Amino acid sequence: MDDNNRADTPVTVIGLGPMGQASAGAFLKAGHPTTVWNRTASKADQLVARGARLAPTVGDALGTGSLTIICVADYQVVYELLGASDVELAGTTLVNLTSGDSAQAREAARWAERRGARYLDGAVMAIPPAIGTPEAVILHSGPRSDFEAHKPALDALGTLTYLGADHGLASLYDVAGLAMMWSVLNAWLQGTALLRTAGIDAATYAPFAQQLATVVATWLPGYAEQIDSGSFPAEVSALETDARAMDHLIAESEAVGVNAELPRWIKAMADRAIAAGHGGEQYPVLIEEFGKPRTP
Ligand code: NAP
Repeated sequence: MDDNNRADTPVTVIGLGPMGQASAGAFLKAGHPTTVWNRTASKADQLVARGARLAPTVGDALGTGSLTIICVADYQVVYELLGASDVELAGTTLVNLTSGDSAQAREAARWAERRGARYLDGAVMAIPPAIGTPEAVILHSGPRSDFEAHKPALDALGTLTYLGADHGLASLYDVAGLAMMWSVLNAWLQGTALLRTAGIDAATYAPFAQQLATVVATWLPGYAEQIDSGSFPAEVSALETDARAMDHLIAESEAVGVNAELPRWIKAMADRAIAAGHGGEQYPVLIEEFGKPRTP
């Protein structure tokens, strides 16, 4: 058993917003000596009452051990805090749970490594109350050896998933997840807006929508095979058939006076794919439209 496999491995947490507080609390609960620092020191009060040490400076906090979690508002704050002249990064493995994009993660990795730190990027796919439970999925990317070395301590946060050596992967999965989340919610809101015009309330539609979303989710692995093979036979429906149904959605939305922007946007994308000759293929052929740069 190496030192990092021990529940008494010291951990430092920089940033005590809701997510940092939850993370520090999970380390304490798992028995790790936990040092914390936050710009607003009073946010450490409850953690200190539970046994955390409040460091007077970021530099002091980093001096405690070999694992430092930083979880602040954005990457600029990461640089402001860790770039200070009295902060010695060499000797720590920095696990950055701050949300950002993949380019920011890769740049932060280079920056930290130039300063002698090991660097793992992380993305938290959970809300603070779930931290410390298996429901909290935490994505990590960066050198596997660093992940493996600190996994026993990081396990205190929830269910860890290692994505690969490319430091940008955790952020990339994170934003891909956001695309999924908002697309499902937007689709549900569109339907809810339509049904409310007929006096159907959101609670009545929600279970129906939930079942539909679950069924659609089961299509993903098969559709993924089509995307990965670059072959889109219309096994159940052709895109041009879907496009006619999109017209119904647009017409209904406009007729009852609800927002038709989302249906029109979906139809415009399908129309471009059909114009490019893909009307007889199956829906996931739209990956070719999603894969092109295009801004409104
Ligand atoms: P947040 O509001 O995003 O971040 C708050 C933290 O950032 C506090 O520690 C705050 O210090 C610090 N901070 C902000 N500006 C600063 C500055 N100029 N100098 C020093 N410190 C500064 O709250 P959060 O919910 O804890 O989120 C932290 C990260 O986790 C974010 O990247 C967020 O996207 C990610 N995340 C959050 C959730 C969630 O549900 N909350 C879920 C997934 C991921 P003060 O306390 O002094 O203001």
